[in-house]
Amino acid sequence: MADSTPYPSGAIRVAVIGGGISGLAAAYFIRRSLSRVELRVLEASDRLGGPLHTLRSGELVLEQGADSFLIKTPYALDLCRELGLADRLVPTGEKFRRALVVRGGKLLPVPDGFVLMKPQNLPAIMSSPVLSLAGKLRLLAEPLMRSRRGLDDPAYDESVASFATRRLGREAFERLVEPLVAGIYVADARKLSLAATFPEFIEAERTHGSLWRSCRAARLPGKRKGRDANAPTAAPTSAARYGQFVTLEGGLRVLVDALAAALPAGAARLGTPVRRLERRAAGRWTITPAGGEPPEHFDGVVVAASTGCAASLIRPWDAELASRLEQIQYASSAVVTLVYRRDQIAHPLDGFGAVVPAVEQRPIVAASFLHVKLPTHVPKGLAVIRVFSGGVLHPETVDRDDQQLIATAKQQLAELVGASGDPRETHVARWRNSMPQYEVGHVQLASEIERRVAAHDGLQLAGNGYHGVGIPHCIHTARAAAQRLVNQLKASRRL
Ligand SMILES: Cc1cc2nc3c(=O)[nH]c(=O)nc-3n(C[C@H](O)[C@H](O)[C@H](O)COP(=O)(O)OP(=O)(O)OC[C@H]3O[C@@H](n4cnc5c(N)ncnc54)[C@H](O)[C@@H]3O)c2cc1C
Repeated sequence: MADSTPYPSGAIRVAVIGGGISGLAAAYFIRRSLSRVELRVLEASDRLGGPLHTLRSGELVLEQGADSFLIKTPYALDLCRELGLADRLVPTGEKFRRALVVRGGKLLPVPDGFVLMKPQNLPAIMSSPVLSLAGKLRLLAEPLMRSRRGLDDPAYDESVASFATRRLGREAFERLVEPLVAGIYVADARKLSLAATFPEFIEAERTHGSLWRSCRAARLPGKRKGRDANAPTAAPTSAARYGQFVTLEGGLRVLVDALAAALPAGAARLGTPVRRLERRAAGRWTITPAGGEPPEHFDGVVVAASTGCAASLIRPWDAELASRLEQIQYASSAVVTLVYRRDQIAHPLDGFGAVVPAVEQRPIVAASFLHVKLPTHVPKGLAVIRVFSGGVLHPETVDRDDQQLIATAKQQLAELVGASGDPRETHVARWRNSMPQYEVGHVQLASEIERRVAAHDGLQLAGNGYHGVGIPHCIHTARAAAQRLVNQLKASRRL
């Protein structure tokens, strides 16, 4: 990259900072709209994809981070189809589509129909050993609980812990909601924003005054659209939710590879951390990588790295925007993958995995049974278990060395599922500062950030720090950022 007078070739030049799924998708959408754009994707590490990281070991497909994505929010699904990957999409396993939860060291099924906070199936809850009788009675009393003042305010927010405890009771929170939510966000539920993570529950209370009533209303004739709108439905099962996830044959790396292949040759620069981003006149930008490489000039920039990275790049010319970005904190986690022969595990492993409530005081957050969840990734006769630890409540875990993490995972699996002997292979992945923590007020914070970014012509932000951590949400922010940037470039007549 030689220092140059800006735009010697006359081509429109766009840089994307960060080569995770958000950055790659942003680059793809920009290129789709502007086929003659000169693109750069500048990635600090030596690999594209971030937590979309698949290892192959013989016939095994071992996901080190993300393993599947939701299709109900269709942005990832649409992108896969657009990239010609439709015939490589595979659903999650059909057997044991449910989660287990640890209680007193035993793995018990989450009551059928209990989806995060929705108590949809009364008989299943009453017969479940996950809650004590007192806990069940309190959960059943949910429709009698008064709604909070201020709920009608469109900007209403409260923590997941506060909402779940006041609606469903402390035990249902500690034994079900907290571990299920921690399994997704590795977060502190006492700080996690309900409006940013599960706004549908606020809407349910707002509209029906109760979660039970909202579930019932959703099943009543006439409340639904479509051919069978007048037939009452049975309570939805948990299996229906798990059926909404898919993956790709060969692993999620296939999506990363397809996006990388769609970039112009040489557009992706690995091992290129951006150190400085300068705003020049008329919406133009100069980027200086670390490591002594000369600066380059661009007409547009998408920052698709963490909000902390965006803050450090933006601080020199917009301290206020930087300080808002810095308010979004990130958590780290570790994933240990253990490959056993199936006969080394005494437990039937009759679920997609198990979550571990904090009250159980174990050094892990969850365990995912990959051979059950994604059977296409694992040859018959093997059991692949991924053990998750760390998160906001145990940040120190991630700094343990590989041997300590593996020993802890083996010990926990011995106690919880009767794993015996040594696994035939193990892998450790650490995801440092990868999971943004959407604290109460996050929705408002994200819109303030967006308003301020709009004042900087040619600058866009994308990534998991803003509107959802799931892969489809990241792709959505990337698509929106790309679209806004293309519109700005067109409006400024640079196109
Ligand atoms: C363990 C784990 C499991 C998950 N499981 C799932 C799942 O099953 N399904 C799902 O939908 N979601 C899952 N997620 C969430 C999802 O994978 C992430 O939210 C998503 O991949 C984030 O993508 P991103 O591009 O926004 O960020 P990242 O992937 O973090 O990308 C940001 C990139 O920016 C780079 N960067 C940082 N600073 C600089 C700089 N100065 N210059 C240049 N580059 C820089 C980083 O190296 C990184 O590659 C999981 C996340 C984790 C951690």
